[in-house]
Amino acid sequence: MKLLVIGQGLAGTIVALQALRHYGHVTCVDSGSHEIASLAAAGILNPITGPRLNLTWNVHTLMPAAKAFYTEWEGILQTSFFCERTIRRIFRSENETTYHAKRYKNEAVHEFLSCVQPSPPLPYNARSNLGECSINAAVLNIAQFLEASRAWLLKHASLMQTTFRYDELKVTTDGLHWQGNRFDHVIFCEGFGVANNPWFAHLPFKPAKGESLEVELAHPLPPEILSAEKWILPQGGCRALTGSTYEWVDLTSTCTPTAREELLSGLGKMLPENPVIAVHSQRAGVRPCSHNTRPYVGTHPDNPRLSILNGLGSKGTLMAPWCAEQLIKHLTNDTPLHPEMDVRRMKQSPFSG
Ligand SMILES: Cc1cc2nc3c(=O)[nH]c(=O)nc-3n(C[C@H](O)[C@H](O)[C@H](O)COP(=O)(O)OP(=O)(O)OC[C@H]3O[C@@H](n4cnc5c(N)ncnc54)[C@H](O)[C@@H]3O)c2cc1C
Repeated sequence: MKLLVIGQGLAGTIVALQALRHYGHVTCVDSGSHEIASLAAAGILNPITGPRLNLTWNVHTLMPAAKAFYTEWEGILQTSFFCERTIRRIFRSENETTYHAKRYKNEAVHEFLSCVQPSPPLPYNARSNLGECSINAAVLNIAQFLEASRAWLLKHASLMQTTFRYDELKVTTDGLHWQGNRFDHVIFCEGFGVANNPWFAHLPFKPAKGESLEVELAHPLPPEILSAEKWILPQGGCRALTGSTYEWVDLTSTCTPTAREELLSGLGKMLPENPVIAVHSQRAGVRPCSHNTRPYVGTHPDNPRLSILNGLGSKGTLMAPWCAEQLIKHLTNDTPLHPEMDVRRMKQSPFSG
């Protein structure tokens, strides 16, 4: 079996690594752009998100699958890029404490969410009178994971750096033909680049640009992730990442002064007393959000040789390992896909034209 994977962001990398186990041959094609969602992301695997503290869809399956995948590949790639981390979620309003109380009644959340605790002072004396809770999360250093995977794919002659042109793919009854090679399946993992894909471009996406900063703080922070106005992910010493913004009109990957101001002002509210000494870098990318927060996984209704893994939104680190595994099983053993993520759920609108 020969597989072609388009894109080497989080989705394409994870699907290519998993597929190398089941397919004799995988070719992953990536344009090599650095202005992609995966490189703007913090890499937080957060099971409970949003002002309403919502439990992530299917998280009891997604989290163990993600932990198993990243720790196994840390061993294979002999690189450290994954760790479990606590999020200190500091309440900003009575509304959030009300939602916490509501969510906490469900015992299924206790694996991830603590009860309300008093908020101890931070190094900068910022604290909330409303208290806080802890969330059991994890962090993937995405840049390191992608770089180590890239080297491994190159070593296994499974990566080509070029921009894939859709008109070069010939779809025939005996297979797919591209640049003189025949493939059994193609899996498209172009993130927001899916907008150029003639087979899947009409899926209803709600793309959201986001920006993040890497900063030098005046004082070191404890290792926990802080979440209040914005999130702060300590990187060791006085370095920290902070994010992120949401923007639905400007869908470029250009960093903006407005986002920088928003993020610095968020830091100022969380850590008063002029906490930032320097901004080391600013990154922007477009999150490939689906219309209903469920990913798009599976095969095209008119041609089962064409597949997609996309729509990971703001949860690529958590969703991609399990979704990729399910897609590979579907292609190799015809195992049914979860109906809420199966891309064929959309057949009524985009595919029927
Ligand atoms: C500011 C910000 C913060 C975020 N924080 C988090 C977080 O903490 N945790 C989390 O889980 N998620 C987070 N996300 C979301 C996360 O980034 C996405 O879910 C994930 O990266 C999507 O990965 P992807 O592979 O689908 O897309 P991308 O990362 O965009 O990768 C797509 C790849 O396909 C390639 N490509 C596209 N078209 C072609 C073509 N024609 N030929 C060749 N190559 C092509 C691109 O070059 C790219 O390498 C964040 C996003 C942003 C913007």
